[in-house]
Amino acid sequence: MRNALGLMLASLVTAVVIAGVWFFTASSRVEPAAPATVVAAPSERLVATAAAARADVEFTAAIPEKAPASSPPKNTCANPNALGVARVVEIDTTGGPGFGFEHFKQLDFLTDHEVVLTFDDGPWPVNTPAVLKALADECTKGLFFPIGKHATYHPEILRQVAAAGHTVGAHTWSHANLNSKKMTDQLAKDEIEKGFSAVKLALGTAPSPFFRFPELQHGPAAMAWLGSRNVAIFSCDLDSFDFRAKNPEQIVNTVMTKLDKQGKGIILMHDFQKHTGEALPTLLARLKAGGYKVVQMKAKSSFQTLAEYDDALIKDIKLPVASTRPVGSVVQTVSE
Ligand SMILES: [Zn+2]
Repeated sequence: MRNALGLMLASLVTAVVIAGVWFFTASSRVEPAAPATVVAAPSERLVATAAAARADVEFTAAIPEKAPASSPPKNTCANPNALGVARVVEIDTTGGPGFGFEHFKQLDFLTDHEVVLTFDDGPWPVNTPAVLKALADECTKGLFFPIGKHATYHPEILRQVAAAGHTVGAHTWSHANLNSKKMTDQLAKDEIEKGFSAVKLALGTAPSPFFRFPELQHGPAAMAWLGSRNVAIFSCDLDSFDFRAKNPEQIVNTVMTKLDKQGKGIILMHDFQKHTGEALPTLLARLKAGGYKVVQMKAKSSFQTLAEYDDALIKDIKLPVASTRPVGSVVQTVSE
């Protein structure tokens, strides 16, 4: 009898301990899953949840001096008829694969009516935020190729791009033509590496190993260098020619005419251009109406910048963003 009572007591204690452990592990898992309550299609929800989680990590880890008030809005989709993201693809950039049929015809991964939205030359005030708003309104994602110099001018805008869950690669330091007669192998390497380092400095985290040549001018030495650095090279399937469009309507017409003919493709646009942000709400609505689906491209691993370029950049530009000191140690209220 006493043995039986002891056995019962021991079982009770074990049960309480198990319940306690279960409660502890279960409650610690509840927090990260919270964003899953957003109203969205399953694929979009998955992307939004991952992006939100990543954005949180990036912001708290990389820029601790930033106040929580400047945190990006959560990736919730309030538009039930949004274009969304139909598919997310992960790219293994080993060896430097090329994308975009204008130059590279090996990796034909898009199916009929699939598009990839790409934006070059930012970040830029007004125009980049206009593009971000249009994409957010349709709960869809793009791939951005910022210019290194622009990233140092407007790091806060580039951080908004990343925080919204878009993919960020690089587009050289100063938009130099890497295939011009004057370009040396060393200068081309510097343009590429300094561009990536500048994007990393602005973001506070490493960009994707995705690169687009300015003016789509593919210099052979630069191509070899990118291959050795395991960076995917992006041309395009379809040029919007937004940089020379007289108005937003012209951009919409150019893209839709080409798309309806080609059926799919990586679309080249510029978040640097005013008309692009203005055209995007209509363009995205036309894509949706035409049955087109957006594919987001992500990299399997981040770009590894070279320390010499990171260090040289910080020394060169001496930007506030390069400072590792918290705001409180720089700015002190002495009178109120
Ligand atoms: Zn460009």
